Amino acid sequence: MDRLEQLCADKGLRMTEPRRVIARILSSSIDHPDAEELHRRANSLDSSISLATVYRTVKLFEDAGIIERHDFRDGRARYEEVPDEHHDHLIDIKSGSVVEFHSQEIEELQIQIARKLGYKLVDHRLELYGVPLKDGE
Ligand SMILES: [Zn+2]
Repeated sequence: MDRLEQLCADKGLRMTEPRRVIARILSSSIDHPDAEELHRRANSLDSSISLATVYRTVKLFEDAGIIERHDFRDGRARYEEVPDEHHDHLIDIKSGSVVEFHSQEIEELQIQIARKLGYKLVDHRLELYGVPLKDGE
């Protein structure tokens, strides 16, 4: 059983075959696929899985808190397994590729900013948008 399947079991989700297939794909994905891409990958394993099933399943997983939905401003919701270690994203607006990063400085700065505003930070979402540097920039 992979990690996401185990999380589903822990949350008491009934695992149908399509759910199992979609959970496995999400667990083994190193990118941030949207529902259509998940559907393509699921279909290569099981052609009976419909796009509607993929949409329902990612909604179920998201509501259960085992996957994260991202909006990288291209009009498509993207999904990834909730990671063990928190990371943020930099989106290349030319190619659409997504770079994951972690900055301890930013993490601490956010906590300090919230604290100064009178809050204890419980979550955050950070996306950087960029274009590749040209030589000499
Ligand atoms: Zn990510």
